[in-house]
Order: sequence, then C-alpha cells, then structure tokens
Amino acid sequence: MKQISGKAYAKINLYLDVRGLRADGYHELETVFQTVELCDLVAASLHRQGGISLRCSLPYLPTDGRNLAVKAAELFFRETGLENPGLNLNIKKNIPVGAGLAGGSTDAACVLRLLNRMFGMPLSGERLAAAALTLGADVPFCLRGGTALAGGVGEKLRPLPPLPECAVVLVKPGFSVSTKAAFALYDQTGGSRPGKSAPLLAALTRGDLKGVCRELHNGLEGPVAGQFPVIGQLKERLAELGAEGALMTGSGSAVYGIFSRREAAVQAAEALRGQLRFVTVTRPLAGL
Ligand code: ATP
Repeated sequence: MKQISGKAYAKINLYLDVRGLRADGYHELETVFQTVELCDLVAASLHRQGGISLRCSLPYLPTDGRNLAVKAAELFFRETGLENPGLNLNIKKNIPVGAGLAGGSTDAACVLRLLNRMFGMPLSGERLAAAALTLGADVPFCLRGGTALAGGVGEKLRPLPPLPECAVVLVKPGFSVSTKAAFALYDQTGGSRPGKSAPLLAALTRGDLKGVCRELHNGLEGPVAGQFPVIGQLKERLAELGAEGALMTGSGSAVYGIFSRREAAVQAAEALRGQLRFVTVTRPLAGL
C-alpha cells in the first residue's frame, strides 16, 4: 500500500477531575472522553527520497519534528525497527488549535493507525497504545475513540456506553489556552472542588442525555474561566440558546453545548456565528 488516508477525530471531555500532582510533575486525572465527528484529514504516502515530510493546511503549525504527527511517524519506525523508505504526510486541519479538543493528539493517533495499516499491522493494539502514551496523555484514547473513562495520566482506559444521540455546538473564543497554562492556573488558584464521576457514568449507562448534561464537570474550568471570563459567558449564552448542558472542554479554550435536537443546535450556532471565529455543529461518535 503506497498511499492511505483517514480521519483524525476531535474529542470533548464530559467530565474532568484533577486528582493530584505526581512527583514527576504530571497531574493525575479522572476524565470521560467523547469522540465527536469534527475531524482533521490525514494522508500518508511513500516516496523514495527518505525522511519524513509534512504539509499542513495551517501555515503557523510546525511541520518538522515538533509536529505531533511527525513525532508519531518517527516513533512508529523506531518501535517497529522498520526502515523508513520516505514518507509524506498531509494534514488538512479542521480542529482548532489550543482548544482542548486534542487536535495534535488525534493527528498523532491517526498517523500511528495509518502507518500500522500501511505496513501490515506490525504493532499489536497493546504496543500501539503503549507507544501512543509516550506522545501524550490523550493519544491512547484518540487511537480507540468512542466514549471512555480515563485515569492516571491517560494510561488507564475503560470503554463506556455511548453518549445518547444529540447535537454538539462547539465554539472557540479568539484565544487559545495551552494545556500547560491551564494546569498552571489550576495550581495557582488552589484547584477546584472535587467532582464525582459516578452520577455521570450512571446517566450514560441509563442512556439518559439530560442526566449526563446535569453531571458535566471540568475541574480546570473554574481556574481558566477566572482568567478568561468569556468562557463563563459562552456557557451562559449556550444555555440561553437551549443547550441541555455546557462545559469548557479539556484545558480550553473551546466550550461546547449539548442539544437534544439538531435544529436547535443549528439555530444556536447561527446566533453565535457573527460573534466568534470558530462555531460548528457536530455530534458524538460511538467509535472510530
Ligand atoms: P489537548 O486537548 O490534547 O490538551 P489542545 O487541543 O488544547 O490539546 P492542540 O490543538 O493539540 O491543543 O495544540 C497544542 C500545541 O501542539 C500547539 O501549540 C501546536 O503548536 C502543537 N502541535 C503540534 N502538532 C500539532 C498538530 N498536528 N495539530 C495541532 N497542534 C499541533
């Protein structure tokens, strides 16, 4: 196979609780990830010049070894011991950057999946997941997708029943928040009230969308919204427009609203479009 392409889906966090700081500086998290249909498009092809080259639709993203997609390809060849004949990667970015939607992580996971297919599946699912974790805490989830509970620093993953059918309005204010900055704000402000994931997990098991929406929680949201009040304002606006629940995703800055009816979500998105650069209507995906 000389050429292969795939979709790299974004994620939102339905739940995120910071469980403490480890001695190595990593924050232990308990989080519920949900894949959504919004995706980057990733293509890989072989050529004869050696090396790894990347073309990316966003000119300000690095295209060298700092890009997570390139890191993933390097890791694949290291892990498998296969010789890289020469690889072209092409990414059409649709997922906003620095938004808490795992844009870079999902590109990396997609490259790992595509290369494993291209070279005849040399890595087992387990080895792929272990390699993915070295690229970032949410990369193992991005490999599998769907709905899952993650613990530790992303290495413990448990599949969950899917989020019931709904529409998700995703908005991003005109600024990004890096994961590092969000955790620094969390540490500076003394953290957040601890959440409880059990009611959310029970609502997922019952297939109860309104129950899920009542239990949305993100421990990073208070500290980040304290610094960037627009995040709280966007949540309120989404609720006014009919969202059953709204939350900042991951480390921000994107905020989502969950709507039981797609038409209401489309109308809400229309109302927000003039004020924000990034507004989209998407939906949860049960698996990749
Ligand atoms: P997460 O939700 O995983 O915490 P995020 O969605 O907030 O991450 P990303 O969009 O992944 O953040 O971008 C974070 C940083 O990663 C950016 O500053 C960007 O320069 C870098 N980066 C490296 N590779 C990529 C990529 N393929 N796509 C997007 N960003 C990338």
